Amino acid sequence: MFGRRINLFKLFGFEVRVDLSWVIIAALIAWSLAVGFFPLRYKNFSVQTYWVMGVVGAIGFFLSVIFHEIFHSLVARKFGIPMKGITLFIFGGVSEMGEEPPNAKAEFLVAMVGPLSSIVIALACHGIHILGFRGGWPQSINGVVQYLAYINSLLAAFNLLPAFPLDGGRMLRAALWALRKNLRWATRIASAIGSGFALLLMFFGVFQFFFTGNLIGGIWSFLIGVFLRGAARMSYQQLLIRKALEGEQVRRFMKTDPLTVPPSASVRQLVEDYIYKYHFKMFPVTEGSGKLIGCVSTKELDGVPREEWNLKTVSELATQCSSENTIEPQADAMKALSLMARTGSSRLIVVEGNRVVGIITLKDMLKFLSLKLELG
Ligand SMILES: [Zn+2]
Repeated sequence: MFGRRINLFKLFGFEVRVDLSWVIIAALIAWSLAVGFFPLRYKNFSVQTYWVMGVVGAIGFFLSVIFHEIFHSLVARKFGIPMKGITLFIFGGVSEMGEEPPNAKAEFLVAMVGPLSSIVIALACHGIHILGFRGGWPQSINGVVQYLAYINSLLAAFNLLPAFPLDGGRMLRAALWALRKNLRWATRIASAIGSGFALLLMFFGVFQFFFTGNLIGGIWSFLIGVFLRGAARMSYQQLLIRKALEGEQVRRFMKTDPLTVPPSASVRQLVEDYIYKYHFKMFPVTEGSGKLIGCVSTKELDGVPREEWNLKTVSELATQCSSENTIEPQADAMKALSLMARTGSSRLIVVEGNRVVGIITLKDMLKFLSLKLELG
């Protein structure tokens, strides 16, 4: 579900991305509006008119979700929370926060502005609809405006459910957090309530499917329930990991005698003595006492025919190491973890100045995490 992402545009400095799943959803929304929603309410339009209404309605919905998310991001930025951008995916949008909000008040306000902005659009569309109705605008335009009023009210209502990590659940967590000054406890309670809501939604979906004959509605409720339950659980785990790694430096987890390749080694030696032996995809190339001169990975091997393996040296193959595969020893461990999550590589070279001082791996960090979580 969280597969390929396409960058769309930048708004107020936030990158707006769309998950490929959303393209399918957008087409489904346009289709269900064009063949179901609009024909039920407005008779005697041509098929083309219903489709234009459906596509415009879907685009309006898409812009409404971006509007909602951009307000979360703007307020979050005001409180100094680093935002990674907005991603539209299967059930709407997520504003990706780099860290937890600094305090309960910030969390409450960041969460609240989303539904609030949806209510504002709903009211505005409702006003425009009344104007259009009185002004005798074409019914097709009035119909789309009315749909946008309806869908934004629904967006606000759904997000206000006290089910963490929905906005309403975040507001609940903020209130609990302010009450006991304990974020971990507040998150545990809020995500338990979120899980409960998700279960209810799944039961409701099954009920709709088997007892009311509303098949599509039932499937949607069930799927949203499944998604919400996963999200509630994941948010709590994420918080535990964040708390456990808080204040820990990369230095603490790194192995200090990293395996490095000399630049004079042949490509054959690289393959046989390093890649086949240790099964790593990437190695730092160093000379002297650990001076980093580049990185070499299995990717670079592709361009070298086997006959040249004895002739070519690693120094000809090595490329400049980047911020994607290196990190400083004093960096936050959480930063290393999110870098690994983003790039999909489980090893990072720890570099101080231009010297390699160690290697940090996902395995070592997870070992530490499970110990710390068990003890605390
Ligand atoms: Zn929201």
